[in-house]
Amino acid sequence: PLVLGIESSCDETGIGIVRGTELLANEVASSVEQHVRFGGVVPEVASRAHLEAMVPTLRRACATADVDLTEIDGIAVTAGPGLMGALVVGLAAAKALAVALDKPLYGVNHLAGHVAVDLLEHGPLPTPCVALLVSGGHTSLLEVDDIATSITELGATIDDAAGEAYDKVARLLGLPYPGGPHIDRAATGDPAAIAFPRGLTAPKDLVKHRFDFSFSGLKTAVARWVETRERDGEAIPVADVAASFQEAVCDVLTGKAIDACRATGAESLLIGGGVAANGRLRTLLAERASAAGIALRTPRPGLCTDNGAMIAVLGAEVIEAGGAPSALDIGADPSLPVGRILV
Ligand code: ATP
Ligand code: MG
Ligand code: FE
Repeated sequence: PLVLGIESSCDETGIGIVRGTELLANEVASSVEQHVRFGGVVPEVASRAHLEAMVPTLRRACATADVDLTEIDGIAVTAGPGLMGALVVGLAAAKALAVALDKPLYGVNHLAGHVAVDLLEHGPLPTPCVALLVSGGHTSLLEVDDIATSITELGATIDDAAGEAYDKVARLLGLPYPGGPHIDRAATGDPAAIAFPRGLTAPKDLVKHRFDFSFSGLKTAVARWVETRERDGEAIPVADVAASFQEAVCDVLTGKAIDACRATGAESLLIGGGVAANGRLRTLLAERASAAGIALRTPRPGLCTDNGAMIAVLGAEVIEAGGAPSALDIGADPSLPVGRILV
């Protein structure tokens, strides 16, 4: 099916157009520069930016794909999770298009979209598959039995998300928001320079939290380390701190992801979400997956961060699976659980 996807859960206005798993257009307008001076996304600013960007971005996507809106088979839109005010703008646009064009509407899950986007690059998903979802607001291990109908959470962060930890540590090191890409580039030092803690990997933690994550202790450990140095008037070796922090995050993420594959018998591992763009995470996962005989699926970095194509391809999978269109009065759900793929 030819599907239009609309994404507006955070600070990216994304419009994607796909035919099945073929990518035709993926236009993204980001309001990130407007949030930089606040050090984080300001919801009201993001909502207004979505409102301004929605129609121009839609026009660009149609032009790129060389598709007329009357040709599409369905409209998929992010129904959650995300910022309420931001989600509402995308949902309103999708409903207006559905009514005006008389096409079915599919309210879908943003997190499932982060997983589904890989189909655009690597085709059908061998199942069961384990997905490591690492984004700005979420960090979890998922068992995917069917991308359109069945995703089960094996574990998740009990405090900060991985992306949040990157952003907070970047701030401590004086790097700009959003910090993930900056730490990625700054981490040229020795990853073994400082032994930062690996949360929830102690034997007692593994009993209760085998596939859960915790990053707030790590963030605090980096803060203490930096403060102590500053108090002593010493310079902060940013490259070493960034590399050591990044190694702690990636070590835990990859270790548990491989364990989850072993536990579920999954032969492939997929990564998704903004932090999946991280260079060290991709390298370490490639090494460990190959050693464990697990096929690794990594979408290209540009598809890992928020975009409309991930919503469009998830919509196409839902349509293929015979999913019922959403009611026109569905609401946005800021905390939609990952298992609810279609709203
Ligand atoms: P969610 O998907 O949980 O609702 P979100 O949509 O805001 O959250 P994404 O857009 O998927 O999150 O990812 C943004 C996060 O990814 C930010 O925290 C950012 O710092 C991080 N990130 C982006 N690129 C990299 C990178 N190269 N290395 C590490 N982190 C990165
Ligand atoms: Mg963003
Ligand atoms: Fe996201």
